[in-house]
Amino acid sequence: MNIHEYQGKAILKSFGVRIQEGIVAETPEQAVEAAKQLKADFNSDWVVVKAQIHAGGRGKGGGVKLAKNLDEVKQRASDIIGMQLVTPQTGPEGKKVGKVLIAQDVYYPGESETKEIYMSVLLDRAKGRNIIMYSTEGGMDIEEVAEKTPELIFKEEIDPKVGLQGFQARKIAFNLGLTGEANKEMVKFVAALYKAYDTTDSSMFEINPVLKTSDNKILAVDAKVDLDENALYRHKDYLEMRDFAEEDPTEVEAGKSNLNYVKLDGNVGCMVNGAGLAMATMDIIKIAGGEPANFLDVGGTANAETVKAGFNIILQDPNVKAILINIFGGIVRCDRVAQGVIDAYKEIGNIPVPIIVRLQGTNAEEAKKLIDESGLKVFSAIQLKEAADLVTKVLS
Ligand code: GDP
Ligand code: MN
Repeated sequence: MNIHEYQGKAILKSFGVRIQEGIVAETPEQAVEAAKQLKADFNSDWVVVKAQIHAGGRGKGGGVKLAKNLDEVKQRASDIIGMQLVTPQTGPEGKKVGKVLIAQDVYYPGESETKEIYMSVLLDRAKGRNIIMYSTEGGMDIEEVAEKTPELIFKEEIDPKVGLQGFQARKIAFNLGLTGEANKEMVKFVAALYKAYDTTDSSMFEINPVLKTSDNKILAVDAKVDLDENALYRHKDYLEMRDFAEEDPTEVEAGKSNLNYVKLDGNVGCMVNGAGLAMATMDIIKIAGGEPANFLDVGGTANAETVKAGFNIILQDPNVKAILINIFGGIVRCDRVAQGVIDAYKEIGNIPVPIIVRLQGTNAEEAKKLIDESGLKVFSAIQLKEAADLVTKVLS
């Protein structure tokens, strides 16, 4: 589950990670109040107005702006709130900004230079371990750094048996070229960051940039946090951080009916019971020359209710030209599922695309008979290959 920068920073702060302080605002007036509060609490004259959307590259898209007085705060906030922000990560349609974070300006001049560092903690699936990835080349596109100068990206592997060790945090601070007070601060920063990642069962914490300020403090200026959804039952207080406005509306609706749906770009809708079978179905559609429009696992109970919900979700996608239903009947008997498909079809009424149903397992023959005799625009098959070929046939 992705969360906003301001929420990620709140989590970081609760683990003792120093952050660029800020207050979230939904209107220009609230933004001005937030700026006054930051002045009172942290004596920051300048602030940055930062669009809160679930995508990076906001700076490049005009979603991060410096404001040097309260008039500018109001102006920038009213420009950014409600805008359709396009960044390299949003796609051309962009994302609508609902909130801004008013944050203290931390790039103030001082006795030493500010320095932008890249740091992330994530799971390396190949190694089966958490790693801390870091680089002196922070602030900019880390993908570009990885491509052009991979030698500037360091990785530190964490042994799950002992966790992050002190020497590792010191090595990171050293490799980043930090000395004196900044070095000590970085050691503390790394330890607190790792603790936050580990304790919250996250799959990613990406801080870009981590800033070394001109007075040698180390703080998180940005926070891209991905909390592992499967572990959220252990962190119920984070559930309310979910922002449905940032998610695909069809996927949200599917979730409400307990359907596991992921939208894809093809034209063959599929409805399957079981995630593994769903993946196999998508493969066979491709082998037969089609392109799946979605992944949809209706789970163990493929009855008229779930099939109907499945149809409704799939049919919201205008690209869908045919639907392949692939059900393995074990405990749910195939004839029950077939009846469910027929009932759902009749209830929805006019389904504008052909439907191919492949039912295999208990009572498959009876199920095929039911479908064939239903008089609906539904084609039946028992073999998966046969079903996939039927799909390509109805599409051509
Ligand atoms: P992103 O573009 O979505 O990754 O958003 P960031 O939070 O990383 O901010 C983008 C850029 O805005 C940073 O790399 C900085 O250059 C700039 N920025 C962020 N905070 C401040 C600040 O306090 N003062 C100034 N002058 N610039 C800032
Ligand atoms: Mn950033």
